[in-house]
Amino acid sequence: MSATILDGKLVSSAKREEIKHTVSGMNEKPGLAVIIVGDDPASKIYVRNKRRGCEEVGFNSWVYEMPATTTQKELDDKIDELNEKNDVHGILVQLPLPAHLCESEVTERIVPEKDVDAFTSQNCGHILKGDAHLLPCTPAGIMEILKYYKIDVSGKECVVVGRSNIVGKPMAQLLLAADGTVTICHSRTKNLADVTKRADILVSAVGKAHFITRDMVKSGAVVIDVGMNRDENGKQTGDVDFDAVSEIASYITPVPGGVGPMTISMLLQNTLAAAMNIMNWRGSLQ
Ligand code: NDP
Repeated sequence: MSATILDGKLVSSAKREEIKHTVSGMNEKPGLAVIIVGDDPASKIYVRNKRRGCEEVGFNSWVYEMPATTTQKELDDKIDELNEKNDVHGILVQLPLPAHLCESEVTERIVPEKDVDAFTSQNCGHILKGDAHLLPCTPAGIMEILKYYKIDVSGKECVVVGRSNIVGKPMAQLLLAADGTVTICHSRTKNLADVTKRADILVSAVGKAHFITRDMVKSGAVVIDVGMNRDENGKQTGDVDFDAVSEIASYITPVPGGVGPMTISMLLQNTLAAAMNIMNWRGSLQ
């Protein structure tokens, strides 16, 4: 058996077309403001891609580049200013921040209705309750891939490896909300392979190349690889030993080209949802 590839680029471009179509019928353009502090090269690439995504679907976008010496107060003031701006519907602070700045203070300062990364405690609470309208981008992108390929989660054994606030925990919540039977694993999990082998749907968000090997996967499982790593040759690779696992899985996401392309599309989706929500309050939606 050879697994069907879950093509994140395909699902991502379908999502962007859908967003573009919705935006073309709106009176006012959704707007995303991105703040980047310092000169981290990877962060600069992510921010550039977010800006391009905004252009592609017809959003306004603003990038605020702040120096690495920015103080907490200066950053807080910038967020307060963007919280107040009517044409800004989504605010994102690119992480990581320089060490002297407090990420959680920054995250919590964004008003929940503009929190398009869904990192505020209020939005995390909604995710836990299952009534969120702004969803964490990477896990939401994975749910879109499953939906696109008509992979039903209901009643399935779902195993998520990784428990970060950005990926693992919200991923588990979204699978639970879709009626999966969910187990979360982490670095203290005993006999990890025994747990992962039970999975009908296995999501790996660990950050270690070749971590999920063939003997950890049940035959016919759906395997979702969130990892973004470099292997010993500097090649971009996920957590999953792709060649060996794709021989026994039913579906698998590649790296690159799987989960990665969905993340920015779901950020755009959240910005659209935030804009529609804010415009609705103001009664300016067409
Ligand atoms: P974190 O480092 O925050 O979390 C990693 C998780 O893996 C932790 O919960 C950790 O457990 C767990 N882990 C580490 N070692 C083991 C082990 N031996 N056995 C079981 N679990 C283990 O990473 P993130 O969640 O932020 O990201 C994970 C990966 O996904 C990274 O490669 C990242 O680059 C990628 N990523 C990709 C995105 C995309 O758009 N494609 C978006 C976001 C992330 P513990 O909690 O016990 O330490």
